[in-house]
Amino acid sequence: MAFALIAAFSTLANTFWVMLSTQRAELVENALQTNEAYAARVADSLQGVLTSDLDRLRYAADSIGESFSDQRSLRKEAYRLLRQDRSFNSVLIADADGKVVVSAPGSMRLEGQLLQNRLPLSKREPMISDAFQSLADHLVVFVSHPVFDRNKHYLGLVGGSIRLQQKNTIQALMDQNVREDGAYIFLVDSQRRILYHPDPKRIDEVLIGSSLVDAALAHSNGSMQALNESGNEVLAGYARIPSSNWVVVSQQPLASIQASLEATAKRVAKGVAPLGLFGLLMVWWIGRKISVPLSLLAENAKRLDAPASYERISAIPADYIESWQIRRALLLAANLLQEKIGRLNLQAQSDPLTGLTNRRGMDETIGLWQETLRSFAVISVDIDHFKAVNDTYGHGAGDETLREVARLMKQASRPDDLVCRLGGEEFALLLPNSSISVAKEVAERLRAVVASAQFETVGHITISLGVALWKTGEPVTATFEKADQLLYRAKALGRNRVVCDNLNLQIAG
Ligand code: GH3
Ligand code: MG
Ligand code: MG
Repeated sequence: MAFALIAAFSTLANTFWVMLSTQRAELVENALQTNEAYAARVADSLQGVLTSDLDRLRYAADSIGESFSDQRSLRKEAYRLLRQDRSFNSVLIADADGKVVVSAPGSMRLEGQLLQNRLPLSKREPMISDAFQSLADHLVVFVSHPVFDRNKHYLGLVGGSIRLQQKNTIQALMDQNVREDGAYIFLVDSQRRILYHPDPKRIDEVLIGSSLVDAALAHSNGSMQALNESGNEVLAGYARIPSSNWVVVSQQPLASIQASLEATAKRVAKGVAPLGLFGLLMVWWIGRKISVPLSLLAENAKRLDAPASYERISAIPADYIESWQIRRALLLAANLLQEKIGRLNLQAQSDPLTGLTNRRGMDETIGLWQETLRSFAVISVDIDHFKAVNDTYGHGAGDETLREVARLMKQASRPDDLVCRLGGEEFALLLPNSSISVAKEVAERLRAVVASAQFETVGHITISLGVALWKTGEPVTATFEKADQLLYRAKALGRNRVVCDNLNLQIAG
């Protein structure tokens, strides 16, 4: 039963576990995909913003290429760029050496200073820089476009700065994409410096050794489960922005899945529990139905010889064919055993020569009578001069005579009386619930029957008898001694007679 229960329970638990781990894998996969798609979408939007910034700068570059020496028109253009769309926190125009010609807003007073980011000057192409510390000491990214004159002669550049640690267009765009499921996005440049993070304090931090950023920089799009900077497992998706080589990362803690998984587990447990419990109960119930009869049958098989084992085995429920068959076999065996025991008991309690009850049987019956009767009479019988019978006719004839006497005693007694051979040629006749006078009459009748009987070989014999009464509370041995003494008295008085207790009666033949 325990085995069946364990099997049923472990099957249930295993199903539950497989279901949860499948669900978990699915949730993880879903989260990875969602984050990847999300990062791609944000990267796409950023790409769009940066492209339109570059477009605007190209338009401005075309226009100032005509009049690069005209300070006024340069300034006008710079302010137009600054105010239009408010994409940039500042705008500047530099000459081919990187010297600032015009800057807007003018409050920065950068004119005449050299750009510290020289790359756009050497590359002479539209560029979106990584983050760096600007002349005005802000952390910025610099979007720039080269300026050429009509003859494709390089004049310098026009560019806009986006200050990362202030309100800016990138931040505005990213802030629009706050998710509610515990996921968040951040943006790093190709030097792994954080350009945007929901926690503004982390902007400017460089993510060295982040496997996530490594993967993002190596492949343009993808997703992975990784450890974040604080050592927590995260599910992340990433996408690279082609025009800038920046990377958008969308990530959520692995733990956020746990809540959803727990909710599922609870739902499933609620759904499965009643039926599962019912199944376990059924297993228990059926297991009991099978095992209880077997265990009872086994228990009783150990003591088939015990009294009433037949009745006990009959009472064992046997609702299925095998238990029924075993029970039938046990009943058969119990019956045979009881019969055999009965036969052996009978043999042990009877005298083989005459078939009368022997001393052992008599003692047993007396034990029973002592508990159930108020009185019984004891007639002690001894054959007269039996030694002579043996001596004259031989031991065989003597035995034959003993058997005949036994038969006569049986004849003279009632069915409830107990006729015993106590050894040699000594007999006893026990009369339950008998008075002394009735016993005396029975004894006398017996004496007369024997005296008048014709024995085959030995002819005539006589017996002497002593009669005593047992009453509740008296020791049985005393009664037997009394009967024996009276028998001796009968012998002494000349044999072939009955001597009775109390009445002091002697009946001579
Ligand atoms: P009494 O009248 O005084 O009783 O004389 P008795 O010869 O009968 O004396 P006692 O009762 O002492 O004799 C017992 C004899 O019974 C002795 C033995 O030879 C004989 N006897 C005892 N058991 C058996 C038996 O199983 N078979 C035969 N054939 N004789 C037995
Ligand atoms: Mg004797
Ligand atoms: Mg005798």
